[in-house]
Amino acid sequence: MAVSHTPTGFVSLVGAGPGHPGLITLRAVECLRRADLVLYDKLVPAAMLDHAPPGALRRCVTELAATHAERCGPIHDAMIAAARQGRRVVRLKGGDPLVFGRGGEEAHALRAAGIPFEIIPGVTAALGAAAFAGIPLTDRASASAVAFITGHEQADKPETLLDWPALARFPGTLAIYMGMARLDAVVRSLIEAGKSRQTPAAAVQDATLGTQRTVSAALSDLPEAARAAGLAAPAVILVGPVASHRSELAWFENLPLFSRRILVTRPRQQAGALVERLIELGAVPVVLPTVEIREPVDWAPVDAALRRLADYDWLAFTSANGVQALFARLWALGFDIRALGKIRLAAIGPKTADALRAFHLEPDLVPAKYQSEDLAAALRAVIQPGQRVLLARADRGREILRELLAGHCQVEQVAVYAQADAVELAAEVIDQLRRGDIDCITLTSANIARALLTRLDDTCLSHIRSGRVKLATISPVTSAAVDALGLPVAAEATTATMEGVVQALIDEIRGRG
Ligand code: SAH
Repeated sequence: MAVSHTPTGFVSLVGAGPGHPGLITLRAVECLRRADLVLYDKLVPAAMLDHAPPGALRRCVTELAATHAERCGPIHDAMIAAARQGRRVVRLKGGDPLVFGRGGEEAHALRAAGIPFEIIPGVTAALGAAAFAGIPLTDRASASAVAFITGHEQADKPETLLDWPALARFPGTLAIYMGMARLDAVVRSLIEAGKSRQTPAAAVQDATLGTQRTVSAALSDLPEAARAAGLAAPAVILVGPVASHRSELAWFENLPLFSRRILVTRPRQQAGALVERLIELGAVPVVLPTVEIREPVDWAPVDAALRRLADYDWLAFTSANGVQALFARLWALGFDIRALGKIRLAAIGPKTADALRAFHLEPDLVPAKYQSEDLAAALRAVIQPGQRVLLARADRGREILRELLAGHCQVEQVAVYAQADAVELAAEVIDQLRRGDIDCITLTSANIARALLTRLDDTCLSHIRSGRVKLATISPVTSAAVDALGLPVAAEATTATMEGVVQALIDEIRGRG
C-alpha cells in the first residue's frame, strides 16, 4: 500500500557577517554548501552566495516583496513552502540573524508551521565596525557594557521603547544601528537626556569592506561631520570614550591598497587568489573576466602525444592552466601518473611549479625569471642535442619558446586548452570604467591586455591616457602589448607573478604618496 509521505525540509537561519568575505563562520559555509535554496538579504555580499552549489536557487528577498511593511509575510511563505517541498533552505542575513534582523520572527513563523530549523550566529555589524575602525567596544577604564540600539524605530511603535535618559546614563558604549537617516534626532535625544556633547563618537559606513569610511567627532558635531563627508547607510554609530582610541588603533584604513578600486581581468576560475590578496590589502576588487578558458578545439594531437609520453625527454609547461588541463586529459584517457615514466618536467614560474606539486610532482627546472626567453635559455642549458621536448600550452601564446629551442632539440607543441576573448564584458563594470571609478587595471598577460584594451571606448581610454585609471602589468611582454596600443603603463611587476603585480601597485601608490 502506498503511504503518502511529505518530505520535510529544513531551514537554517544564518548570519553572513558584516560584508568581508572572510567574516562568515565555517558553520555558515557548511550550511550554504548543502543548500537547495538561498534566500538572502540585499546587504549580503555576492561572494557569500558563491559558497552555495552552482545548482542552488538564489533569491534576494527584496524581490519577494517590494514594500518594507509587507516584507516579512512573503519571506516566511517562501521559506515554509520550500521546506515543505523537502528543500534545504538557507535564510542568509547580514550580520547576525538575531540582531535587528527579524530572525526571531522568522523562527517563530517556522515553529508555527512545524518546520525544523537551526540558527547560526554571525558577526554583527557593530563588532565588524569596532574591529575594523580600531574602536574597542569595552575598555576596563571607560566602558563596562555595550548596548545595541536601533536608531530607526518602527513608525507605529510608542516612543517610550527607547529610554533615552537610561541610554544617556548607560555606563558603556552605545552601538546604534540604522541611525543615519535620523542621526540629528538620535544625537539630539541623547544630548537632551544628559549625554555630554563632548562624548567621543564615530560613524562607520560599509564596515569591514574596502569601501569603509569612518567619521570621528564629538557627539554634538557628528551629524554635521557625517553630512560633510557624505556618509550614508549602512553605517553603525559608536558613542563613548572608546571612540577616541581610533586615533591610535585604526589599522584597516592604513593598509597599503585601502579603498583602491582594482580591476581583476583574469578568467573567472582564476581570479580568486588575486581577489583574496587584494581584499587582504584593503582594496576593492572588481572582477571583469576578459578571456575565457575552454577546451582545445581538437584533442587529437594532445591525445596522440599523451599516448606516447614516455618517448619525450622533457615536458614543459608555461602556465598552471596547462598543467591542470594536461593532467585532466591524461586521467580522462584512463592513464595514471605512471604514464609520465622518466620524463623531466619544466615549469615557467612558481605558480606553474605549484600546480605540478599539487600532483606530487617536483619540477626539474624553473627558470630564475618567468618568461619564455628565460625558460628557453634554462632548457637549452640542460637538454642534450636531439632530445625530445613536449610543450603544453594555450592555443594562442607566444611562439618564441619553440623558436628558441628548435634547432637545438626536437620540439613538439600541443594546445591543451584554448583561450578566447570573453564574449561580453559586464556592462556595469564598463560603466564604472567610463566614469573613471576604477583606480587601476591589472593586466596579467599580453592576451588579456589586448582582449580588454582593444574593446574599451574613447571615454575609458581617455581616463587611461590621463592617468586617472592606471595600468599595472605582470611583465615586460605584457607592457609591450599595452605600448603597442599606444597606452601608458603605470606599474610593471619586477617578478612576473601575481604577487609581483600587487607589489608594483603598492610601490606605485606609495610613490605617489
Ligand atoms: N542583522 C544585522 C543588522 C541589520 S539592520 C547585523 O547583525 O549586523 C541594518 C543595519 O545594520 C544598517 O542600517 C547598519 O546600521 C548596520 N550594518 C549592516 N552592515 C553594515 C556594515 N557593513 N557597516 C556598517 N553598518 C552595517
